[in-house]
Amino acid sequence: MLQGRPEVGKATATSYSDSQAFIKATGARNTGPGQYLVLEYPRLTEIMKDDTNTPSPTGTPKFALKWIAAHKGVKGNERVDEEVKRAAQGESSSLEELPTILRKHLPTSASVAKQEFAETQKARWLETWKTLPCFARFQHIDTSFPFNKFRKISSVLSRSQSSLLIQLRTGHIPLNSYLHHIKKSATRHCTNCWDASHRSIIETVIHYLFECQTYATEHYDMDRALGHHSRDLKGILGRLDRIKELLKYVGRTARFKMTLGDAIGDVSHLEPEEG
Ligand SMILES: [Zn+2]
Repeated sequence: MLQGRPEVGKATATSYSDSQAFIKATGARNTGPGQYLVLEYPRLTEIMKDDTNTPSPTGTPKFALKWIAAHKGVKGNERVDEEVKRAAQGESSSLEELPTILRKHLPTSASVAKQEFAETQKARWLETWKTLPCFARFQHIDTSFPFNKFRKISSVLSRSQSSLLIQLRTGHIPLNSYLHHIKKSATRHCTNCWDASHRSIIETVIHYLFECQTYATEHYDMDRALGHHSRDLKGILGRLDRIKELLKYVGRTARFKMTLGDAIGDVSHLEPEEG
């Protein structure tokens, strides 16, 4: 606008802005979204100075940017506000009327592009995930795909503990229902329950964790600590404090000592620091 005014350059033109952030940005070299637009401002004001060819006799700058608390009521500003609202609603001036920098397509913001890419990938994973055989089973274990919360919880567990959780979640765990499925056990049934009472019960994760009478004593403490979540695998696996009780139970049963070692129930590294 000012470039078309003949008086600019002969006297100091001062523009006022109530945006401290903008004034600060024009005086600093930053990186970030939209920075090229901020840099356009000093470039344009430089051009205006060059056009005059006559330096100001008083040595004052030809163009100044000053801060003003708020310029409500200033006619020019009210007009700018109106134009901003129209632009925000999608209206635009014709190309010739726009500053050169705005005539072509604006560069894509790297952070926006990255975010869009991540969103697309996440949607694709989710679609693929829904087609996998284990998807249905996970509806009873964890529906928060892509399981960021689980990954966060796993990061504080020991290697064997997070390995156990993965096995409990996927069902790929050395219990007879799975071992039989991969032809590593002659039976799918819980041999403990068969030996104790000749009952044929399939040894699933749920049976081992919550139902097997062989571990009645070991269940006792977990039931007391977990209250009404004591049979809720999805609820237990969603929180670290409940996972701790589950790990202690697995440790007490010593059921996976052969595959996961005997420190599975040691949760001392998960206790809050004293003090
Ligand atoms: Zn059993």
